Amino acid sequence: MKFVADSMVGKLARWLRFLGIDVVYISSGSPEEIVNVAEREGRIILTRNSEILKKLKGHRVWIYFLSSEKSEVQLKEVVNKFNLWESIKPFSRCSICNEPLVAVKKEEVRGKVPFYVFQNTDHFEKCPKCGRIYWEGTHIKRLHEKLAKILGREL
Ligand SMILES: [Zn+2]
Repeated sequence: MKFVADSMVGKLARWLRFLGIDVVYISSGSPEEIVNVAEREGRIILTRNSEILKKLKGHRVWIYFLSSEKSEVQLKEVVNKFNLWESIKPFSRCSICNEPLVAVKKEEVRGKVPFYVFQNTDHFEKCPKCGRIYWEGTHIKRLHEKLAKILGREL
């Protein structure tokens, strides 16, 4: 199941990506652009913008309106509504490009991550699109705990 999110639900989009869910985030796109991406790529639209409804005529798209302004509530709602529990793979996708990450050998990241991190970490992943390198640092651990708390279960 794939989604496209607009600027009104940007935080939700980022969190879904951290959970490994495929979400295209269009921060500056018009409602038409979002509808077109949804139709072309078979994505469900996540939004709080009712303007999009006016652009749906003649298009075959699914749209899901988030009623809450709170991203914590939105996240839990989307995961439950679309039954995404089985699809959750935390930190398996680039938070910037939405690309699935690939494992890289430790030697390949020498000099590309802080020395302290290199010394103390054995598993690294990389985004094939932007080249960003990921590892389980304290930031990721905290985020993981936060998402587990929001969703009310271990991830
Ligand atoms: Zn990337």
